[in-house]
Amino acid sequence: MFKKLNILDEKDKRLRIVSTDAKLPLSLEYKNLIEQIIMELTYSQIEEYEKKYDLRPGMGLAFPQLGINERIIVIVHEYTDGKFDNYVMVNPKIVSTSNEMIAAEAGEGCLSVNRDVDGHIPRYARVTVEGYDVDGNKIKVRAREELAIAFQHEIDHLNGIIFYDRIDKNKPFYTEDEIRLI
Ligand code: ZN
Repeated sequence: MFKKLNILDEKDKRLRIVSTDAKLPLSLEYKNLIEQIIMELTYSQIEEYEKKYDLRPGMGLAFPQLGINERIIVIVHEYTDGKFDNYVMVNPKIVSTSNEMIAAEAGEGCLSVNRDVDGHIPRYARVTVEGYDVDGNKIKVRAREELAIAFQHEIDHLNGIIFYDRIDKNKPFYTEDEIRLI
């Protein structure tokens, strides 16, 4: 039986807290919750299930969005049509970045933000992220393009930042000459 997650809305103050490191290895309860998150994020990106369960499409979720202020993120990335990769990272840190910046042309969305927010958010085109898996093994991911944006978006949640905080109010949109839009 598929049970929907209870995702906090943007107005909830818990989204504004700097989360603390999670203790490793994760508890069975957290591991099960992560499996549930992976399932919901995957379903949300498959039209049939998105409709069936009335989901909003999303590729990432951070624990603070469930009211748990610990540094855990989950990303489900459709790397090619209908094929998904999962990234679960505990206590993630961006250890290196490209000089090149990109922005999602259509803007970013967030499962905690139930409205469209227009604007380009400058992000690194490539990031290397280090952290731990659920059992406490050290892991490293090199992400680029859309996946790099997802990592930066989710890690922002661990620091109490919502994507629209990064939209420049005086200049919400960039041209292709200023930043590469993807
Ligand atoms: Zn978000």
